[in-house]
Amino acid sequence: MRDRPELDTDPAAVLDPEQREAVLAPRGPVCVLAGAGTGKTRTITHRIAHLVRRGHVAAGQVLAVTFTARAAGELRTRLRALGVTGVQARTFHAAALRQLRYFWPQVVGDEPWPVLEHKLRLVGQAAHRAGADTSADTLRDLASEIEWAKGSLVTADGYAAAAAGAHRDTPLPASQVATVYAGYEELKNRARTLDFDDLLLHTAAALEEHTGVAEEFRERYRCFVVDEYQDVTPAQQRVLDAWVCPRDDLTVVGDANQTIYSFAGAAPRFLLGFTRRFPDAVTVRLQRDYRSTPEVVSMANRVISAARDRPSGTRLQLVGQQPGGPEPVFAEHDDEPTEARAVADAIADLVAAGVPAGEIAVLFRVNAQSEVYEEALDARGIPFQVRGGERFFRRTEIRAAMRALRAAAASPPDNADLATAVREVLAGQGLSGEAPGGSSARARWESLRALSELADDLAATVPDADLDRFVAELDARADAAHPPVVRGVTLATLHAAKGLEWDAVFLVGLVEGTLPIQYAESGAAIEEERRLLYVGITRARRQLSLSWALSRSEGGRRHRRRSRFLHGLAPEDRPAARLRPAKGKKPVARCRVCGAPVAGTVAVKLSRCASCPSDADTDLLQRLRDWRTGRAKELKVPAYVVFTDATLTAIAEQCPADLAALVAIPGIGSAKSDRFGADVLALVRGEQITG
Ligand code: ATP
Ligand code: MG
Repeated sequence: MRDRPELDTDPAAVLDPEQREAVLAPRGPVCVLAGAGTGKTRTITHRIAHLVRRGHVAAGQVLAVTFTARAAGELRTRLRALGVTGVQARTFHAAALRQLRYFWPQVVGDEPWPVLEHKLRLVGQAAHRAGADTSADTLRDLASEIEWAKGSLVTADGYAAAAAGAHRDTPLPASQVATVYAGYEELKNRARTLDFDDLLLHTAAALEEHTGVAEEFRERYRCFVVDEYQDVTPAQQRVLDAWVCPRDDLTVVGDANQTIYSFAGAAPRFLLGFTRRFPDAVTVRLQRDYRSTPEVVSMANRVISAARDRPSGTRLQLVGQQPGGPEPVFAEHDDEPTEARAVADAIADLVAAGVPAGEIAVLFRVNAQSEVYEEALDARGIPFQVRGGERFFRRTEIRAAMRALRAAAASPPDNADLATAVREVLAGQGLSGEAPGGSSARARWESLRALSELADDLAATVPDADLDRFVAELDARADAAHPPVVRGVTLATLHAAKGLEWDAVFLVGLVEGTLPIQYAESGAAIEEERRLLYVGITRARRQLSLSWALSRSEGGRRHRRRSRFLHGLAPEDRPAARLRPAKGKKPVARCRVCGAPVAGTVAVKLSRCASCPSDADTDLLQRLRDWRTGRAKELKVPAYVVFTDATLTAIAEQCPADLAALVAIPGIGSAKSDRFGADVLALVRGEQITG
């Protein structure tokens, strides 16, 4: 994601008339009902900035909530770009956790109970006690049922009736699920721990039942904003009611067509019923899509117009505002590793063509799909961050860097500015001037660089910030699971991608059983899967690729079918539409030396087994390396962005005589051959390249 500084702070200059109406509405209830990319998040950040700037509310009295840590980070980033600091922008859970920690001594009296990160162990014990099946699948399903019930404010006693009413597909007879649920609650209380849903329930209860707590809270926060309101659960709504009550200073924005957490109890009825609840609310509808090209917008409109049973008020037709761009690309592959390599090749081409890796995302339905993409990107030396980077603060190099920064803060260097002081500490941790080779070394380097860039940002916004302040900022971010943006391709689930945007988006693994996911059986569950595709498509600004593979593993049976949602969208009966149409379907690669089939990215690239001898022209290889260093310096990119070591070796072994032979080397796409082909062929011919 790019931080798009919205430096022009005059709302009239950067907002359309409907957005402006919502931004300038007086304090009180405001509802923005609009499709993806129409500027909902932009509207709320401008509204907050407007209210703060005009002195209607102090920044510290605003609480803005959203649904993922990264989306909360995006809110903060955009607010900072508008010059507003001090607003609390958090996920519901992070906000509740903070409040609960603060109020716990008043409400309960002892040390706050720790939060249970994984509930499966306790669910397993409860299932065992109830004599229920304890297989891994059943336990996971039981945990989901408990989450749904708690998110829907359903107790164990009420579970059976509520589950029947909601047509839940229960993993065990409902009465048995209820017994496991009750047993789980008992074990958890006995262990004096809280699960994520308890954070919400206890926060609401503390505010509802303790007048002192409620008064103190209402003194502190006066203005509430909710992004992605379509995905609020009854438990979150209860917390929100406890926060806002008895005032009505609440702005909500959402898109019912992007409801993707129904499985956890979320319901767009709160969004769609907002004006019934607050009849004086200022209500605004937006239709102009400022994010995506008309090509992407048209695809999004087609996907969502096929949705069944859309509630009234959700039939928005997006109108693209961006100039035209490339048509979305569809591609079918034989197997997942091939799909992943094709995607990684296309990404390498985009990067070579100048698209920053941080502006590219690969989105999939379930986390398990991530791994082949991690491998494929690794093999090409393309940096990436997984699952929104929530694990950032747990990385070894980051923990070590934080220890070193803390130590340095205790005895700060004289007269060094923050950015320099941080860079010096991080240099000791391995942040060299240039990215090192080798993918894990580079991943470590990228995360240290992200820390150093965060220090630059802080120094720019808080001029007198010192190391102590920086360490405090890092602690706060670690607490809120808000990592800095690591410059790399984002690999994330569709659920984690909501609210975000990238120049190029690759939607992968679009097969039946994955999207829709195989356990989506009811009509309603299928519709939620369709909305997930809509969310995925609408993340793309310009480039959109949709792909699928017929078998999971290489050489496996090709029995998978393309996702039903692509029917009518994908060009039909195309045997193998390719991400890179220039290249035909690849025959099985064989070793040039021994003739055996080769597998693995590097071996395929070299067209020989790793164990067979290299016949590289070592003199040419050296000249290619020297040339690469020069080009990388000139373009101010790491050397591997020009060509990886494996690609240079392949060129020096295969000595391509023309462009066709050059692009036949796996990993060299049309973008790279356009850009570097002439140089490379000249080097192969033994010519000198002059600057
Ligand atoms: P989503 O439903 O995906 O969360 P959204 O409605 O919140 O989308 P935003 O993220 O606020 O949309 O806006 C999408 C993009 O369009 C952003 O890059 C934003 O800066 C830009 N944008 C929004 N409104 C305008 C405008 N009036 N003029 C120019 N650009 C705009
Ligand atoms: Mg948004």
